Amino acid sequence: MNLILLYESDFISEDKVRLNDYRAQHIQKVHRANIGDQLKIGRMNQLMGSGVVLQSDDKGVVLRTTFDQQPPAPLPLTLILALPRPRMLARSLQHISTLGVKRLILLHSQRVEKSYWMSPEVSPEKIRDNLILGLEQAKDTVLPEVLLETQFKPFVEDRLPEMVTGTRGLVAHPGSPDACPRGLTEETTLAIGPEGGFIPYEVEKLTEAGLQPVHLGERILRVETAVTALLSRLF
Ligand code: SAM
Repeated sequence: MNLILLYESDFISEDKVRLNDYRAQHIQKVHRANIGDQLKIGRMNQLMGSGVVLQSDDKGVVLRTTFDQQPPAPLPLTLILALPRPRMLARSLQHISTLGVKRLILLHSQRVEKSYWMSPEVSPEKIRDNLILGLEQAKDTVLPEVLLETQFKPFVEDRLPEMVTGTRGLVAHPGSPDACPRGLTEETTLAIGPEGGFIPYEVEKLTEAGLQPVHLGERILRVETAVTALLSRLF
């Protein structure tokens, strides 16, 4: 945890917070912070700054807070991710928020097992928890917006074309003729397939909606590896 993320409910006065959950334990056991030490803090969806340890005991930790720094710039990206199996989803969400994605769409497709949508990992609370782990890792405060699209065709036909308009549209698909571009600065919409890949019909529909199929070379990457490789290469 490189940043202690704070919520409105932590504040006991305008510039003081009391923590008594995993963040207090982390400050005491991992940072081994003493009274007077300064820690990097951030206010959820707001500024970052520093927190001075005023109290640290078995009741928790009290910090005096100062906020004076903007969070890092977001990626100019809407990421569409075919829902991975639950454990892979948890790890992918952490990478996604660590890398600065602020708009994520989890999409159903033919090779996504329907049971994945019932998993506790897809609950709003678990999605949020994993995204927060990524923010704490990266030193960022801005929680990504997440949409769940449980039906492929209505999303791709009715909503995606408008979403792609004015952006660079890409779908990562092994064996595509074109290589994935590098170093983009423009707004981008990127789709990443499920572990079994998008079926040809889905690639066709995504292409019709404005996404260009691109490859990352002949090696087939796991979804979580593809997420990090694609985002690093694109931006
Ligand atoms: N057998 C599947 C196929 O050929 O499409 C492999 C799917 S891969 C495990 C999961 C997703 O990661 C793919 O749908 C794609 O979006 C992305 N991906 C993985 N390796 C890739 C590569 N070499 N080029 C482009 N996309 C890749």
